Amino acid sequence: MTKSLLRIAVSPLRRGREIPAPAALPALDDIVARERPQEPLHALRPRTLQLTARRFVEGFPGDTLYAVKCNADPRVLRALWEGGVRHFDCASPAEIALVRSMFGREAAIHYMHPVRARTAIREAYARHAVRDFVLDSVAELDKLLDETRAKPDELALVVRIALPKGAARYDLSGKFGAGFDEAVALLRRCRPLAATLGISFHVGSQCLDPQAYARAIALADTVAGAAGVVIDVLDVGGGFPVAYPDTDVPPLGAFFAAIAAAHAGAAHLAQARLWAEPGRALVAGAGSVVVQVQARRGNALYINDGVYGSLSDAGVPAFRFPVRALRASAEPLRDFAFFGPTCDSADRMVGPFALPDDIGEGDWIEIGQLGAYGAALRTAFNGFDRAHLVEVADRPLLLTPGLDD
Ligand SMILES: *Cc1c(COP(=O)(O)O)cnc(C)c1O
Repeated sequence: MTKSLLRIAVSPLRRGREIPAPAALPALDDIVARERPQEPLHALRPRTLQLTARRFVEGFPGDTLYAVKCNADPRVLRALWEGGVRHFDCASPAEIALVRSMFGREAAIHYMHPVRARTAIREAYARHAVRDFVLDSVAELDKLLDETRAKPDELALVVRIALPKGAARYDLSGKFGAGFDEAVALLRRCRPLAATLGISFHVGSQCLDPQAYARAIALADTVAGAAGVVIDVLDVGGGFPVAYPDTDVPPLGAFFAAIAAAHAGAAHLAQARLWAEPGRALVAGAGSVVVQVQARRGNALYINDGVYGSLSDAGVPAFRFPVRALRASAEPLRDFAFFGPTCDSADRMVGPFALPDDIGEGDWIEIGQLGAYGAALRTAFNGFDRAHLVEVADRPLLLTPGLDD
């Protein structure tokens, strides 16, 4: 391993290095030609991160909270910070500690997981000075008050409401969120306790319909009206989509416009400040993985990363990621499926992935749009946990309109 290759840990919650100026970063092809990597090579584009962060922060009509779980690599956090992100949606004490250690009190940390261990509440409140918490039940409110003994004007309390199953690629409606009556009761209980009172929801990840946000805002407005209390914050959650080879996404601006219009028309929420919690949209385009083909059998390529590594979304969710061969070829493209390196037959990615007809053993393939939930979900299953991370100057393999194009 040469010095240019940084080992990434299975748990990426570590302090990183300074990001060099973009001009100093190499091209991915040059690195692969030089290093000839036999293990998955993760490529990060700090400039893309800065650009997408800036686009989102400047375009969204409120505060942008980065959903840290999506990719908690310190280099990612640093580049987003340089792009203007100052708010962080954290879900665990480890994420909170990481953000505090990197940015100190300048970072606004929001604890947006609605079910927490008591020790996690204490650690967030007492050690890391977190004052913003999401809730979806009275039991969690009692737990929070018990553990923090917070003064009435100290906390920001955000009530997460449940949404009907929506149009997103990943439905997130089944696990968290208060039903209508429960949300109304919770808002009323929280109001005298909270300096800031909010309502949040999550439309589901990779949501392709801007109107899904408008419908959710209308529901939040009905809840606010029924509760009859002043709402200070409307948190529209994450779910903003990025482009994949089989998916044309509406431009990011269409989502912002739909949100702004629904917000303006919401009688009980029009005065509330907007928050968003993007994850995928901020980081997906900035990450690629370069894999090597170890065998070809017909239309199947056996590669050295898979569903237990950074390609879990290519497994059962069957995301088609953009791909390109790193070797020039005059052959036409044909469709391939991938098998990952573990012995599990579930380590299979149907794609299809279009690559030159003559691709074979030893060739390298770049797989793009993997900056979100890719490296963050890697496991050490079967011993295949080795990978390296390099920072590159390349543009993303596939551009998302309004975000990084
Ligand atoms: C995962 C998550 C997000 C980020 O979702 P994306 O679809 O990646 O934008 C935002 N908020 C909450 C509460 C989440 O759990």
